[in-house]
Amino acid sequence: MKFGHEILKQADLLATFTEDAPRVTRTYLSKEHKLAGDYLIGLMRDAGMTADYDAFGNIVGRYDAGVPFAPIVMTGSHQDSVRNAGKYDGLFGILSPIACVKELNRQGKRLPYTLEIVGFGDEEGVRFGVTLIGSKAMSGNFDPVWLEKKDATGVTMREAINAFGGNADAWRELDRRGEHHGEVVAFVESHIEQGPTLLNENLALGVVTAIAGATRMTVKVTGLAGHAGTVPMDVRQDALTAASEMILFVERFCRENEDLVGTVGRLSCLPGAINVIPQDVEFSVDVRSGRNEIRRSAIELIRKEFAEIAARRNVRVEANPYFELSAAPCDEGLQKQFAEAIAAQGIQVRHLPSGAGHDAMEFPKVCPIAMLFVRCGNGGISHHPSETMTADDAEVATRALLHFFENFQPNEFKPERAQRVDRG
Ligand SMILES: [Zn+2]
Repeated sequence: MKFGHEILKQADLLATFTEDAPRVTRTYLSKEHKLAGDYLIGLMRDAGMTADYDAFGNIVGRYDAGVPFAPIVMTGSHQDSVRNAGKYDGLFGILSPIACVKELNRQGKRLPYTLEIVGFGDEEGVRFGVTLIGSKAMSGNFDPVWLEKKDATGVTMREAINAFGGNADAWRELDRRGEHHGEVVAFVESHIEQGPTLLNENLALGVVTAIAGATRMTVKVTGLAGHAGTVPMDVRQDALTAASEMILFVERFCRENEDLVGTVGRLSCLPGAINVIPQDVEFSVDVRSGRNEIRRSAIELIRKEFAEIAARRNVRVEANPYFELSAAPCDEGLQKQFAEAIAAQGIQVRHLPSGAGHDAMEFPKVCPIAMLFVRCGNGGISHHPSETMTADDAEVATRALLHFFENFQPNEFKPERAQRVDRG
């Protein structure tokens, strides 16, 4: 085995750079971020790359092309983690391409493009409540008002970036859309699936079709409170039973469409007394899909159904979307190249959407994107210490990634100009 065991060993070591051992927690601009970053920079340099931190604490390694004025292919994922995380989410997408470069360098081989590997400082948003800070900065999606966001101890992002040795005011220079950094022709990310699809189909790898978009709504149902003992059942205006019907509709509707997932994760009920009919219920709805048109029409249908349920039950309903994130479709040409790289390993090619967000989703404004998914063991659990990946899967994923890099063909440049409303 060329890559698998070594990558897993590196992931084990990185897991020791944690804020709350024996659990794995590594937040943006922490001491542990520095330890993990120094280790990754060391791996990059050993593999034959130049490597250092950028102004936001992102870890950036370059394996220069064998030709002058070459385009750039970016790859990478995030070094940070959620609280009590697994060992592979994010890190695999940094370690696996480093292993590819090490192998290319061992063979004395250069690529016709510069390969850049990025370990994004923040993706999960744990410390400052803003997600994808690294990739937002690099793709021109960073809003400088976020520099004033404070962590739980009152330290602003600006202070933390500068204390880390970076330069918070240099955020504009990180934007890769400009020519001054060289033309980026693709961003590709390898990542553990964080779900059970590949596992259930006994496949080690998959090609991501799109990173799902999401719509979030707050739904307010208003009925009429009354005495639990005296108001007859047939004249009640019970906000909670109406809301229950609405919530079950979201589940049923999303279940019937394989391109949709829907979740009600929050609910409050007032007055909240055992002997009073519920009057004011508020709940959240989160609907996601890899396809924008399916998500949008689902939201319309759900709101229409809510209105009908409310009318039938003599309560009022307000269902207002307050957050919308466009799906980030993966480039067809790059998907094909990943499919070939997977087939070259003797693995049946499976396409699947990503329900979770990833660094790659910030890049469609810069260049075409693509993602390779690697099987997630233990029922597909992630954001949890039980997250697993086998050495065999790490091996075959790295071989496929190397095949992709060695055979990469740039596509016609088609930036996506999708509007995003409130990134929340
Ligand atoms: Zn991740």
